[in-house]
Amino acid sequence: MSVCAVIRDESDALHQICTPVVEFDVQLAQWVSDLSDTMVAGPSLSLSAPQIGILRRVFVMDVGQGLQVFVNPVLTDAKEEQEATEWCASFPNQPLLRRRPLHVTVQAQDPQGQWFVICATGLAARLVCHELDHLEGKVFYDDLPDENFFQQFTLPWLDDEEDSPAMEEQQEFLDLARDALWKLTLWLDVLHEEVSMLATKPAIIEIQSMVEHLQELVDEWETHSREITE
Ligand SMILES: [Zn+2]
Repeated sequence: MSVCAVIRDESDALHQICTPVVEFDVQLAQWVSDLSDTMVAGPSLSLSAPQIGILRRVFVMDVGQGLQVFVNPVLTDAKEEQEATEWCASFPNQPLLRRRPLHVTVQAQDPQGQWFVICATGLAARLVCHELDHLEGKVFYDDLPDENFFQQFTLPWLDDEEDSPAMEEQQEFLDLARDALWKLTLWLDVLHEEVSMLATKPAIIEIQSMVEHLQELVDEWETHSREITE
């Protein structure tokens, strides 16, 4: 039994494209066993190799039908859509509401190198897509539009005091947000001054809207911190 540490948050290992498995050997068997043990210990329903620091195209899943191992998986079909809350062992306190295909077809090899095809639906389809993203160096919020990301990652802290992290942690985030706001505003000024002809271009408008959004967030946060301390 070897339970490995799950790589967390913004580690580089979670943002690398994994390489295909070419040898179906003892080393692969060891990776699969480590992945499976770590998934069960989590507990989680699926886990990808990069999450335990192995940059290879392997993931495991167990949705109540026993352990399924996917080596060099390829998505060959995706149909319809579903929206549900998703969890990631690498971001343990951050559930995220997101869309995924409802039905997927995946081609993969087993640990002996035999190819198989599997059709997955609902939760299994969601997990397959989540883990396939990991193999491409993407995490579950990477495809979210900025606004949706801000709302889901930061606003719940404002709405639900019971689940709020410690005040110091909030203060740290507020400082970061203030710092980002200051830099963005400065950057925007420089761009406006130096290249006024660009002022109507989409990139500038996008930065402007990010600044406004961040400003709202900081304002809301400051009001909230005041309410808590008062
Ligand atoms: Zn994940």
